[in-house]
Amino acid sequence: MSTPFAGREIWFLTGSQDLYGEDTLRQVADQSQAIARALDDATAVPVRVVWKPVLKDSAAIRRMALEANAADACLGVIAWMHTFSPAKMWIAGLDALRTPLLHLHTQANVELPWATIDMDFMNLNQAAHGDREFGYIQTRLGVPRKTVVGHVSNPVVSQRIGDWARAAAGWAATHELKLARFGDNMRNVAVTEGDKTEAELRFGVSVNTWGVNDLVAAVDEVADSSVDALVAEYEDLYDVAPELRKGAERHDSLRYGARQELGLLALLTSLGATAFTTNFEDLGALRQLPGLAVQRLMSQGYGFGAEGDWKTAVLVRAAKVMGEGLPGGASLMEDYTYHLVPGAEKILGAHMLEICPSLTTAKPSLEIHPLGIGGKEDPVRLVFDTDSGPGVVVALSDMRDRFRLTANVVEVVPPDAELPNLPVARAVWRPAPDLATSAEAWLTAGAAHHTVLTTAIGVEVFADFAEIARTELLVIDERTTIRDFAREVRWNQAYYRLAQGL
Ligand code: MN
Repeated sequence: MSTPFAGREIWFLTGSQDLYGEDTLRQVADQSQAIARALDDATAVPVRVVWKPVLKDSAAIRRMALEANAADACLGVIAWMHTFSPAKMWIAGLDALRTPLLHLHTQANVELPWATIDMDFMNLNQAAHGDREFGYIQTRLGVPRKTVVGHVSNPVVSQRIGDWARAAAGWAATHELKLARFGDNMRNVAVTEGDKTEAELRFGVSVNTWGVNDLVAAVDEVADSSVDALVAEYEDLYDVAPELRKGAERHDSLRYGARQELGLLALLTSLGATAFTTNFEDLGALRQLPGLAVQRLMSQGYGFGAEGDWKTAVLVRAAKVMGEGLPGGASLMEDYTYHLVPGAEKILGAHMLEICPSLTTAKPSLEIHPLGIGGKEDPVRLVFDTDSGPGVVVALSDMRDRFRLTANVVEVVPPDAELPNLPVARAVWRPAPDLATSAEAWLTAGAAHHTVLTTAIGVEVFADFAEIARTELLVIDERTTIRDFAREVRWNQAYYRLAQGL
């Protein structure tokens, strides 16, 4: 898979008008180029920032919006009104714009030059009211956007812009996302259902199902020599259990795990798919539930949902793209069981097998153990503890007439003790603001038991993604109280129905 930011750009648009004369407009161009360059150079902004010529009239603004829409390379546009750009000039352009928008409310100078300031300076540097005119028209037109205030030399400003650029890359990724489901979702489960047609409209994802026989055929077609090479890679990367090593009694099970990985990879590549689901109830002639194979493909950037959960697979893929290049990782996760000791409450998250090793910097062990579910041979799997540190868990629910994102800010912590009898990858975390409030809010939101856990990006990236997607996001963090949260849920139900129109 290619890296998600390669060849991608953010366009930097500067608003002005013809009123000021050539000299002033030249300064506007120079200074806006310097700001675009500073953002381009900022390490927090993961894609190129490309300056565009200063916009001075309605026709040019509309043309620029249409070009941004048409350019696959353009993830989104940043707009700044250096001078006063009368906002009726922006109506046609903003109405046509379909790419993500960030309004940067900044100015060229940090300090106000008290001793030298004159009316020429005031004429040139009037974003303080030029951007308010722009804010008015954006709000009047109902344009979704992120607003960032401050000088570009402030790291908080470039960080917030970088977060938005990541969200815009996630938005592009969901629009390029073909998701292959092997089998349907687990029988009788409610929350993994959902409206795939609506999801294609809202997020751009194309979700379709293939028979598990297609996967079985792809696994059977893998050449033995390819299996040899991959098994050698495993022995390099992981602590392989002695019984799985070459010549040992269960080595064939490891070879079958490698065969599954290569078969899945070949089939997903041929389909152009970047996310997939499996279902333990529908494995056909597969000998093992794909555990290791799924873990390995997630670590290569694929989205994944277990039990046919395509919505979580979309989230995992989006989180992979949005966190590209950052320390930490992203994985399917499931709230499994609690430590309810007062004052020390924690959640133990895991899945049957399928947790992505991007969540650890330690060397995972590669093991084989029985699985009580699915009635297949014992599956191979990577076992590890998720690295400690901040994270976010996010779920996507279909609320019948729309989608809802729910995010909980968490702190991943070490397990209180060794877990010698739990041979699966896992994470232990303290949810904010505390377990009781977090879980009560989560249940009030109707949020799913499957999530993406990311330790690479924070909740602001998801907030930006939700804004771009015009999708509800409920955040549970250190400021959450149940009374306010329940009210927000209730009010949102009215708001999002009204916002959709008839
Ligand atoms: Mn599950």
